[in-house]
Amino acid sequence: MPAWYWKFLVTLAKKALSLMIRLNCDDEFFDIMKEFISSKTHELKLLEENKDASNVESQPAITNPFVTKHRGRPPKRYKSSLEHVTNTQNNKHSSITNNNGTQEKNRNKCANCGNYGHNVRTCTYED
Ligand SMILES: [Zn+2]
Repeated sequence: MPAWYWKFLVTLAKKALSLMIRLNCDDEFFDIMKEFISSKTHELKLLEENKDASNVESQPAITNPFVTKHRGRPPKRYKSSLEHVTNTQNNKHSSITNNNGTQEKNRNKCANCGNYGHNVRTCTYED
């Protein structure tokens, strides 16, 4: 370990300790440290146990890709099936409020009550 890194760690620890003293939250600090130490001790134990076994087992985890193909928008299949269900449920309502079909796709349609302008998460409708 390089000396500068050790110094950095020490200043970090000092900072944490001085915050602990200033805020008088040593209980909290000890809890965090205890949790950290016990979890890391456990991790170390597992690591050493794995060392005794073959290294082959730990390799697939490294090649596991983190990049997901579906970014941002959720898959459309789910949405369309949801819309299909609500369309049959609320035909009366949608025909009254939306005769010009083009706008209705741009507005939020609630899957719970079928009203527009909000979605199922923000719905306040109860029956
Ligand atoms: Zn609603």
